[in-house]
Amino acid sequence: MKVLKFGGTSVGSVESILNLKKIVEGQDEPVVVVVSALGGITDKLIHTSKLAVTGDSTYLTSYEEMVERHHQMIDAIITDTEKKTALLNTVDDLLGQLKSIYQGVYLIGDLSEKTSNAIVSYGERISSNIVAALIADAKWYNSLEFIKTKHKQGRNLFSNSVSNPLILEVFKDFKNGKADHKVCVAGGFISTDSVTGEVTNLGRGGSDYTAAILAAALDATVLEIWTDVSGFMTADPRVINTAYPIEKLSYVEATELCNFGAKVVYPPTIYPVCIKNIPILIKNTFRPEDKGTIITDLGEEDDNGRAIKGISSINNTSLITVSGLSMVGVIGVNRRIFTALAENGVSVFMVSQASSENSTSIGVTDDDADRACEVLNKEFAKEIEMGAMYKMKLERDLATVAIVGENMKHTPGIAGKLFGTLGRNGISVIACAQGASETNISFVVERKSLRKSLNVIHDSFFLSEYQVLNVFLCGVGTVGGSLLEQIAGQRQKLMKERNLQINVVGIASGHNAMFDRNGISLSQWEEDGKFSIQKLREGLKAAEASNLTYLKEEVIGMNIFNSVFVDCTASADVAGLYEDMLSNNISVVAANKVAASSDYDNYAKLKATARKRGVKYLFETNVGAGLPIINTINDLINSGDKILKLEAVLSGTLNYIFNTISAEVPFSETVRLAKEEGYAEPDPRIDLSGKDVIRKLVILSREAGYKMNQEDVEKHLFIPQSFFDGSLEDFWKNLPSLDAQFEKERQEVEASHQHWRFVAKLENGKGSVALQRVGERHPFYDLEGSNNIILITTERYNQYPMLIQGYGAGASVTAAGVFADIMSIANI
Ligand code: ADP
Ligand code: ASP
Ligand code: MG
Repeated sequence: MKVLKFGGTSVGSVESILNLKKIVEGQDEPVVVVVSALGGITDKLIHTSKLAVTGDSTYLTSYEEMVERHHQMIDAIITDTEKKTALLNTVDDLLGQLKSIYQGVYLIGDLSEKTSNAIVSYGERISSNIVAALIADAKWYNSLEFIKTKHKQGRNLFSNSVSNPLILEVFKDFKNGKADHKVCVAGGFISTDSVTGEVTNLGRGGSDYTAAILAAALDATVLEIWTDVSGFMTADPRVINTAYPIEKLSYVEATELCNFGAKVVYPPTIYPVCIKNIPILIKNTFRPEDKGTIITDLGEEDDNGRAIKGISSINNTSLITVSGLSMVGVIGVNRRIFTALAENGVSVFMVSQASSENSTSIGVTDDDADRACEVLNKEFAKEIEMGAMYKMKLERDLATVAIVGENMKHTPGIAGKLFGTLGRNGISVIACAQGASETNISFVVERKSLRKSLNVIHDSFFLSEYQVLNVFLCGVGTVGGSLLEQIAGQRQKLMKERNLQINVVGIASGHNAMFDRNGISLSQWEEDGKFSIQKLREGLKAAEASNLTYLKEEVIGMNIFNSVFVDCTASADVAGLYEDMLSNNISVVAANKVAASSDYDNYAKLKATARKRGVKYLFETNVGAGLPIINTINDLINSGDKILKLEAVLSGTLNYIFNTISAEVPFSETVRLAKEEGYAEPDPRIDLSGKDVIRKLVILSREAGYKMNQEDVEKHLFIPQSFFDGSLEDFWKNLPSLDAQFEKERQEVEASHQHWRFVAKLENGKGSVALQRVGERHPFYDLEGSNNIILITTERYNQYPMLIQGYGAGASVTAAGVFADIMSIANI
């Protein structure tokens, strides 16, 4: 024999209730079916009584809506007219009683607990009758007759000793196989007082408990809880959209998760079936073919299971801290705390005590917080007055998170990983507790960080199928566009091969921005099945207008975990945001060179903030586009080497210009071509004045361990300074006047079998840039197109320096370099 419980949503609509019928009628053994009220009805019953007691006559409308809902349901599902009439008689009789009670409440303006309990019971009383009439071969059972409670400490508690014999009596024939029906249907949640017979209930969500009580009393083979999700999930699916069903849980794990807010099972449900070793199966009424979750006494069987099975949370947490120097070593303080609270009906769900014993923090619900403080201030009034203890400290707006798994006890380092992950994401833990049983670690955080905490933990313990990286992209020019193209193209592969999900959660141009914490779908801008940057740019125009402040507030305000701010602009203003991003635990990947080449103190501060916050500030593409130059220098230094000298051609644009210049293509034309090919900076003067190379040299020198600023670099220009003083327009206009001189020099260079290279050098801690002529034997001689090259001389690579060479400019290689930086953040 089985017990099947169907929750509110499973009896909430015509579709679901017909599923229920199919599931129950398809069983090949006798079953007891326990049902909740139609979804939402319990809330509405309560809401309507509140209207009535405040003298609001719209209670009647609200009541009529409930009548209508039940009538419509009956009309839709019961086709047999005889059955329908009988059912309507019963249901209308119940609804009539309900109406009279509401009238009484409205007229007298009083709503006692007794009346409230009576009102709220009608949901299950009616729904159980409907289900009993719907299922073939079923009989209705009246739960009020055999689920009994006793009144204790102001609460109605289920009484096993009174109920058990009654259940055995009522279900005697059914249990012995002598009944004339295959299915018993009873309402969940509702009960009566064992002394007075007044209607009571088992608490919100209590239908699960009714089902467990029946399963235990009748020695069912299994308790099946049918609901609207495909099992007990790794986290609340309403908060974590990557949560997925857990295949197996132990009773202990399930209890811990439920106690900490996993609503899918009402916490008291587990104990009665656990002591009888009856498995609980959680199933989805809407997808009966899904496997669901089985909760049993897993024992040894689970030794190889995951260390962490699930996460749950309670978001209305207040923390009370009892502290004072007199507490140290005083025996009985904790006893007094807990006795005082218990006597006043305050339930404590978490305790954390410093080993110095001078403070104890306790977690209570927001509703209990004021009362708990009052009770404790009174209890310790004498000590507080003497100054030996402080008044209770109350912190509100908090949330408690618990991570649960029995295998934690076999796995070292879980707490380290947990708190490390939270810290890296800028979440501070206000209190924490781990029981010696090591099946649960709970901690308290600010309520506003709850979602982020859950996401980050879910992700880091690989509960999610995918590790998630959330990307904000600033700049949709050639590099930003190409990056999005690459992300769009690689996403599937990364998910499949690396279990990494890259979510673009924000995209901003200079004027507009869009954000979506669940990830912006890039496929909305496809053209011929491929991501189109043009379409995105069009789409972006219709998005919110954006400016620097808006951008900063949105990105930081989203407070999203594992996030990276990617700067593909050339803007100094955007570079000015990095410090704020890093301090808020958002990593920064910059193609923009402004920050890393800015004043040394600013650069050093950014690096220090990133280090302090445990996030990354990466800018590999600042030098040599996608070439691994900065990473190589970092690796050399981290492994104890010392950089003695750097010699490099670092301007793709200049190299292109000096490789393209010829008798046919004059100097000014090469500049124009470089711009056209997309090598040059948006303002080519930045390249031609050597500024771009100086910035790169400064960045490299800093990464190589030298304190250098742009002014420190000795520069030898090949274009007179006056060309850079006017406007951009003037510059273009004047440029051809240099062609003749360049041609003359070019002929000399050619005649001497040399090539022009614009070389940046770091030697003896000094930086310089200059246009040089290099001969055939020089390693820079053959550097083609827009390529870059760097020779690194170190203590180890001394006689034969290390050489890195390749494409040094271009949107797609730069974007690939940015992508590589993003990936290295994902691999933290
Ligand atoms: P029923 O009406 O069937 O009793 P409930 O609403 O009481 O259903 O419980 C099911 C809901 O619990 C799910 O729809 C889900 O939103 C929520 N829930 C919270 N935490 C979890 C979890 N860890 N696993 C599954 N569901 C959860
Ligand atoms: N109908 C009750 C409630 O909404 C009991 C239940 O559904 O379990 O709380
Ligand atoms: Mg429920």
